[in-house]
Amino acid sequence: MSLQRTIKNEVNLQGIGLHSGKLIRMALKPAAPNQGIIFVRSDLEGAPQIPAYYKNIVSTQLATTLGLGKATISTVEHVLAAFQGLGVDNGIIEVDGPEVPIMDGSSQVFCDAIASVGLQSQLQFRPYLVLRQKVELKLAEKWAVAEPASRLEIQGSIDWDHPSIGYQEFCFREGETSFEELAQARTFGFLKDEEVLKKMGLARGASLENTVVLDDALILNPQGLRFPDEFIRHKVLDALGDFKLAGIEIRARFRLHRAGHDLHSQLLAEIFRNPDHYQLIDRDSSKEERQVSGLQAMLARGFVAGF
Ligand SMILES: [Zn+2]
Repeated sequence: MSLQRTIKNEVNLQGIGLHSGKLIRMALKPAAPNQGIIFVRSDLEGAPQIPAYYKNIVSTQLATTLGLGKATISTVEHVLAAFQGLGVDNGIIEVDGPEVPIMDGSSQVFCDAIASVGLQSQLQFRPYLVLRQKVELKLAEKWAVAEPASRLEIQGSIDWDHPSIGYQEFCFREGETSFEELAQARTFGFLKDEEVLKKMGLARGASLENTVVLDDALILNPQGLRFPDEFIRHKVLDALGDFKLAGIEIRARFRLHRAGHDLHSQLLAEIFRNPDHYQLIDRDSSKEERQVSGLQAMLARGFVAGF
């Protein structure tokens, strides 16, 4: 039986935004039980809040972007993966710009920041979701499946027609796979796309310091890769971050092939679309496992009230 956790103290960090190229400051702060993860745009009037919740996804192009009202926050997946991987339920992520800084392109810097202040148990039960049936999505050659399981598993595979990537697979199993196996895996991009993206006003902050860059055949980073299969490890890391947007711990086996932010978000929406797909377990208000409605659980976690 798990208890909810938050970070012990505030920790500050700063870095470049991958797309804006601007310096962005960030503060990770503790939050009360049942709050979930909430982004705050401290640079905007009234410091608007954007809960890390799949219904607030406004774009999945190149990164996951959340929005509520006029406020948006991009590239949320790597910091959310750090919260997920370290088992942090509640926290405030304050950012003074439109995107989370890219840091080294992985989750490692966020993990180190969280580890530097430590975690605090909150003596409240951590609700979770189990699947009652298989839920699957297929989009041309990409597919995503979620199946009933007693713990979170993410089995990812890619098949990239590139001599330095090819077919790769990796399986993360909660409680078995160390999060370190994923946390250091960096984002990657192709040199041929860079010019196009920069013309669109994107990837202005992209460099060999924060992205594994490939030309038509080779990896251009002088230090090479951190893992021989760093690409699929990063894809699984992205999935871990995106699934944090469920707003509740998910115990299910995900099998993802050539998936990305779009498919992750569609799969979450598909799971929640039909209450027959899942059961929410909240042992806080009862000694016995019981089912509560999706709305009740979200209200309890502060996602619906006030927004
Ligand atoms: Zn990523």
